[in-house]
Amino acid sequence: METFTYSFHAAEVIFGPGAVTRLGKLSERAGWRRLLLCTTGRSRARGHLASIESALGERLVAVYEQVEPHVPSSRVAEATALAAEHDVDAVIGLGGGSAIGTAKAVSLALEEQRTGHPARAAFVTGQPLIPVIAIPTTYAGSEMTPVYGVTHPADKADGSARKITVSDPKVAPKLVIYDPLLTLDLPPRVTAGTGINAVAHCIEALYSITRNPLSTAAALAGLRAIAHALPCCYDDGSDVEARAEMLEGAFLAGTALSNVAMGLHHGLCHVLGGATGAAHGDANSVVLPYAMRFNLDATSPQLALAAEAMGLPTAGQRAEVAAEAAAEQVAEWVAHMCLPQRLREIGVAQEQLPALAELAFASRTVRNNPKPIADAAQIEALLRSAW
Ligand code: NAD
Repeated sequence: METFTYSFHAAEVIFGPGAVTRLGKLSERAGWRRLLLCTTGRSRARGHLASIESALGERLVAVYEQVEPHVPSSRVAEATALAAEHDVDAVIGLGGGSAIGTAKAVSLALEEQRTGHPARAAFVTGQPLIPVIAIPTTYAGSEMTPVYGVTHPADKADGSARKITVSDPKVAPKLVIYDPLLTLDLPPRVTAGTGINAVAHCIEALYSITRNPLSTAAALAGLRAIAHALPCCYDDGSDVEARAEMLEGAFLAGTALSNVAMGLHHGLCHVLGGATGAAHGDANSVVLPYAMRFNLDATSPQLALAAEAMGLPTAGQRAEVAAEAAAEQVAEWVAHMCLPQRLREIGVAQEQLPALAELAFASRTVRNNPKPIADAAQIEALLRSAW
C-alpha cells in the first residue's frame, strides 16, 4: 500500500484562446489595483505587452522588461526596487520560466521588505502578501509550481555561478492564464526545448520517490497530449489546435511537477544552467535520454507506463524493453527537432565535468533520485557519456 501527501496551492487556472483579455476583470475581482509586469524586452515587439496593457489599463503601474534566463539575482533586485517604488500589490510574470521565476522572487522579496520579517510560509497553506499571476508563453511549467531558481554570481572559491532553488507555497501563482494565442510565435527551437522540459516533468514525476495518484495521472495525461502535439507545434507553429493541446500538456506536466520531488535529470539541468548559462530547454534535451537510461533498472515499471502514454506499442513487452523504448522516443524527438544532443554543443567544456558532477552530487534534487547515487563519480560518468 502506498502512502502519500498532496498539497493544493489555491490557484485559479483560466485556459483558452483569448483568455488574456480577461485579466482586467479578474484583477478587479481579486482587488489588485497596482500591478507590476515582469517580462523580456521581446514581449513588446511581439505585441504581448500591448495585450496586457489593454486588459489592465491603469492597473498596470510598472513594467520590468529586463528579465534574463536563469533569473540572475541582480535582475531580481532591480525588479523588486521597481515594485517597491510603485507600491505594487501583485506581480505578473509573462513569458517563459525566467519571467515567472522573476515574478516569484520579487513577490517574496517585497513581502520581506514590507513586513520586515522572513516571508517564508510557516505552513503549506500560507498565502502571500503580494500574489503572483503567471501568463506562460512556453511549456516550462513554472506557473503551476511553488518553486523558483535564482542564479547568484560566480563564487570566488570555485568560479562557478550557482542557481539556488527556493521552494515556498507562497510563490505558487494565484492566477494562471493559459492563452494558446500567445504561443503562436514561439520559435521552433524554444517550442522544442521547452516541450522536452515538459516531457521531463512527466518522466521524473512518474518515477519520483514522492509520487502520488494525482501526479501520476497528470504525468500520463500530459505525456499523451505532448506526444501528439509537440511534433505538430514544431512543424507548424501556427496550428492553434496543436498549440492548445501542447499548452494543456504543459499544464498537466507542471501539475505533476508541482507536488513531487524531482530527481537526477532536474538536478543536473539546474546545475548546468546555473554554472554554464546553457538554455534550460537545451540542457533538458541533452540530459533527459541519459537520465532515463541511468534510472532504467530502478524505474522500468514507471518508464513502461510512460512508453504506453507516448503511444508506443508496448503490449506483451517486458517493462525494461518498454522503458528503453521510452528513452529512445525522447532521443528521437530531440533529433527530429534538431535540438542539441551533446553537452559540448551547449557550451559545456570537458574540463568542467568533474566540478559539475560535484555540484550536482551536492544538490538535494539529485539526492532525491529514485536510484540512489553513491558518489559524484557516477554523475561524472554520465556527464562524460553525454559530452
Ligand atoms: P525562458 O523563460 O528563459 O524563455 C526562453 C526564451 O523564449 C526567451 O528568449 C524568451 O524571450 C522566449 N520566449 C518566451 N515566450 C515567447 C513567445 N511567445 N514567442 C517568442 N519567444 C518567446 O526559458 P524557459 O525554458 O521557459 O524557462 C526556463 C527557466 O524556468 C529556467 O530558469 C528554469 O530553471 C525555470 N523553470 C522553473 C520551473 C519551476 O517549477 N519553478 C519549471 C521549469 C523551468
